[in-house]
Amino acid sequence: MEEWKQLLGDTITSPEELAQKLSLDKEIITTVHQKYPLRINPYYLSLIKDVNDPIWRQAVPDAMELDDTGFVDPLAEEDHSPVPNLTHRYPDRVLFYVTSQCAMYCRFCTRKRKVGYTCQSSTHDIASGLQYIREHPEIRDVVLSGGDPLIMEDDKIEYLLSKLREISHIQIIRIGTRIPVTLPQRITEKLCSVLKKYHPLYINCHFNHPREISEESTRACAMLAEAGIPLGNQSVLLKGVNDSPVIMKELVQKLLAIRVKPYYLYQMDLVSGADHFRTDVSAGLSIIKMLRGHTSGLAVPHYVVDTPKGGGKVALIPEPIVAYNDDSILLKNYEGDVYSYPTTLGQLTPVDMA
Ligand SMILES: *Cc1c(COP(=O)(O)O)cnc(C)c1O
Ligand code: SF4
Repeated sequence: MEEWKQLLGDTITSPEELAQKLSLDKEIITTVHQKYPLRINPYYLSLIKDVNDPIWRQAVPDAMELDDTGFVDPLAEEDHSPVPNLTHRYPDRVLFYVTSQCAMYCRFCTRKRKVGYTCQSSTHDIASGLQYIREHPEIRDVVLSGGDPLIMEDDKIEYLLSKLREISHIQIIRIGTRIPVTLPQRITEKLCSVLKKYHPLYINCHFNHPREISEESTRACAMLAEAGIPLGNQSVLLKGVNDSPVIMKELVQKLLAIRVKPYYLYQMDLVSGADHFRTDVSAGLSIIKMLRGHTSGLAVPHYVVDTPKGGGKVALIPEPIVAYNDDSILLKNYEGDVYSYPTTLGQLTPVDMA
């Protein structure tokens, strides 16, 4: 049996087993588990060093999940679903949820109301998603999401990618996955040989903390990069996990070193059962402020708020414009110094240049 299947087979999914393993209160875990699924595989579990450390917080159920804020479907993904399992929010690209399974169930997950419940997206839902994409020539970019698309068997992944590649208006395919972080053993030579047949293919992974960059995840990212796949990263800003400029700086620098480009840093959505992870917006702005100019521009992600009710993503930047009129714009740089730049064309005189 392949190693990753063995690891998944040895995964903890019962409250009793987890409570025993980590010496936790079985009743609390059981109550949380009645609301939200539980899955921690031995690899991710091995990254935990201490009670409540940043790895633990992402994986181990907590009583705070029972505080119900009443938020459901924060992004109104279902209001923008023309067919089941597909969201068409932007003009030229769609999100296609191809499975509801993951290698681990993250406690902060935006889709925690949905992931982990049905066995897999039914063949019917995949077919109706494909049909919708075929019938909409304006779609040039398909983002495969879930759940975690790479939890699927190689042949299922190959089937999906080949069907998408048959559609001539599809320029790029993207896969959003946490597998390189939560179960890097899943990235096999066989999987890479499937993926690389369907270029241009992009993968966005989801590292949240520098301690998730292990020998195994480094190897997984190297294999994907060697298969010619550009790698990006989407992190979620999480209280008690990565809401500090020092930790985020270490994370983004280490990501570049394993050939992964930081793409988005998400402000937490309004997720029922995960509100204890939410930070003030100022936490995200300070992180960007401490990155921009202080380290490689390549390392700086876009800090985005996915606006409630399906308004889409909006990028936030710490205000660099000090003043702005018809003549000039005054800009503050990363050291806090202010510089002037002409606002419109044709006003430069040799005096200005002096
Ligand atoms: C995030 C998202 C996308 C992809 O957005 P990009 O900014 O192009 O990465 C597409 N559709 C939906 C509904 C999304 O939430
Ligand atoms: S892997 Fe992604 S979809 Fe799955 S539980 Fe974690 S955050 Fe949610």
